[in-house]
Amino acid sequence: MNEELLNRKIQYLKGVGPKRAAAFALLGIKNLNDLVNYYPRTYEDRSVIRKISDLSPGEKATVFCMVTNIESRRIRRNLHVIKAVLTDGTGYINVVWFNQAYLLNKIKESKKYWFYGKVERKILFEMANPVFSENFENFAVILPIYNKNKALTQNVIRSSMKTVLSEISSHFNEIFPTWITEKYELLQLDKSIRNIHFPESNELFYEARKRLVFQEFFLLQTALLMIKTRMKGEAPVEEVFEKFSMGDKYIGNLGFELTGAQIKVIVEIRNDFKSGKLMHRLVQGDVGSGKTAVAAVAISDTVENGCQAAFMAPTEILARQHYDNLRIQFEKLGIKTVYLNGGMKASIRNDILEKIKNNEVDVVIGTHALIQKDVQFSNLGLVITDEQHRFGVNQRNALAEKGKNPHTLVLTATPIPRTLALILYGDLDISVIDEMPPGRKKIETYTVDSSKRRRVMEFAAKRIKEGSQVYVVCPRIDEDDSSDMMSAEGVFKEFSNYYSAYKVDLIHGKMKSSEKDMKMKTFYEGKTDILVSTTVIEVGINVANATLMIIENAERFGLAQLHQLRGRVGRGRSQSYCIMISRSDSTISKRRMEIMKNSTDGFYISEQDLVIRGQGEFFGTRQHGLPEFKIANIYTDMDLLKKAQSAAVRLLEYDPELLSADNINIMKTIESQYGTFITI
Ligand code: ADP
Ligand code: MG
Repeated sequence: MNEELLNRKIQYLKGVGPKRAAAFALLGIKNLNDLVNYYPRTYEDRSVIRKISDLSPGEKATVFCMVTNIESRRIRRNLHVIKAVLTDGTGYINVVWFNQAYLLNKIKESKKYWFYGKVERKILFEMANPVFSENFENFAVILPIYNKNKALTQNVIRSSMKTVLSEISSHFNEIFPTWITEKYELLQLDKSIRNIHFPESNELFYEARKRLVFQEFFLLQTALLMIKTRMKGEAPVEEVFEKFSMGDKYIGNLGFELTGAQIKVIVEIRNDFKSGKLMHRLVQGDVGSGKTAVAAVAISDTVENGCQAAFMAPTEILARQHYDNLRIQFEKLGIKTVYLNGGMKASIRNDILEKIKNNEVDVVIGTHALIQKDVQFSNLGLVITDEQHRFGVNQRNALAEKGKNPHTLVLTATPIPRTLALILYGDLDISVIDEMPPGRKKIETYTVDSSKRRRVMEFAAKRIKEGSQVYVVCPRIDEDDSSDMMSAEGVFKEFSNYYSAYKVDLIHGKMKSSEKDMKMKTFYEGKTDILVSTTVIEVGINVANATLMIIENAERFGLAQLHQLRGRVGRGRSQSYCIMISRSDSTISKRRMEIMKNSTDGFYISEQDLVIRGQGEFFGTRQHGLPEFKIANIYTDMDLLKKAQSAAVRLLEYDPELLSADNINIMKTIESQYGTFITI
């Protein structure tokens, strides 16, 4: 019965109507179910009564005070002011109400009321437009504050929420079997939903939040584990890969020794190949750790064992770079490689597609053009995606669908701590390349303030004269008077003038991808001396001749991002430099710069990033291709996450497909929340 009710469109809720429904839709709320699952951003707790003598400016507080000296004045035609002085015996506080003349009937001198408002420091403390009441029961609530938009007030969202909750007269059906709520001491779902919106007390709020955070982690983990079990259970195209001589030859031809870490990961991959079970593995390795060679060995193994392989990169330039490098190595082994991108002539593309389909080529390297419908493989055995964080889970799966059941390998330079990786990539096994090739020179990193900018520019000129190329990264694209941040367009103009003897170019995210590709290619070919850009250059391209990275407004970037950007240099034999121009003196910013100067270890840096700013945007799950969390915080709720994870494992141990009647509601919720996400 509730289900039917919850599926009703929000438009038909009392007090909503079509106009407000449109505003709700902008918040992602279309039906009543969306509404009850729209949790408050924060709360206003009026239940704690404070003494005036204990208040400090800037805070919001409740005081219980006697009213004295009410004055009412019309100051201009459209400005009416009521002033009063409050006291609770510990001090005095002024209150003012603007344009609320009707309050004069509600507030009387010498009477006591509860007031709630923001305390400001004027001559005395002052509260502007406080709410007040004679009745503590109605007043002393913990009020939800929702993320809203211009078209909706807090009051509309609150009252709509109240209406739904009262219309759900029976209760929200519990989705967990009793053993879970008992073992993990969780509040019932119904009570949790009601208390997350309108907490009856602080304790109930914490209990409600705990339950809902647990639930969110639990559902996602269960979904991920189900994907993993399903994929593992299926056999790959060819039963077992057991020949590895081609991969070994590839290694022999490399011209350098693999690091211990690369060898370790290759062994892990080959163990998967030999096992007869489907590989589903994430390879994590810092920029420059040599993930491509590992991928290439896996490709060689696959081809030797009679299958085709696909290698997908997030940008054309990166895909082409892989193609240029790998094709030559593969040719030596008799492996046929083709390149596929979006902008190819139809006749050429069709020819290539024909060859892929007829098994006349072994390896296809390309961009997301690889996941287009018309690309059909004859016998796809391995799918590799590079720089995984740029692709969503769905894209990754779309490519995996191309073969009957290809092995999948995902490469990423995003260094996330292992525990978090396990959660975010719960559906993957993880390998880590935790060692750099020998002989790499440490990138010398400096922080300077903007007064040294001229010297940085002279230094860049010197590097260019010596034959190097330079990147300059800015936090913004266009010039804008209202901001003091450096823009790529502004710096491009400035540098084009300053470096008139050199070739300066500009690249940013608003350009068409064909234009970006062309510019990257020109830089890659050494025809550009200075490339001014935004963070679009972040992704894995390898220009050994670029040895200087200048980052404008470095304080604007997160640590993990700075690390990725710095990774664009230091790829060749000569000494590389990263100069961060910072325009902030804040302690946090200084600490960040200090960390960057002292460490080149992506794992360490990402952990520090976490420590400094909590989960922040870096761990925003969106860039990992996972759904956003509504209430959980993967940093601060780590404990609950571990519990939810073990609960999910236990549950699936005895009911892997969630078929039992006890678990049917869990399955339903997973389907409705992660439906598209788990369809594979
Ligand atoms: P990433 O892990 O960032 O993708 P790449 O695979 O692009 O790194 O490798 C970076 C560079 O290091 C390439 O030029 C590659 O040939 C080289 N390289 C990889 N492994 C080794 C190694 N074991 N010894 C020396 N150089 C290596
Ligand atoms: Mg790479």
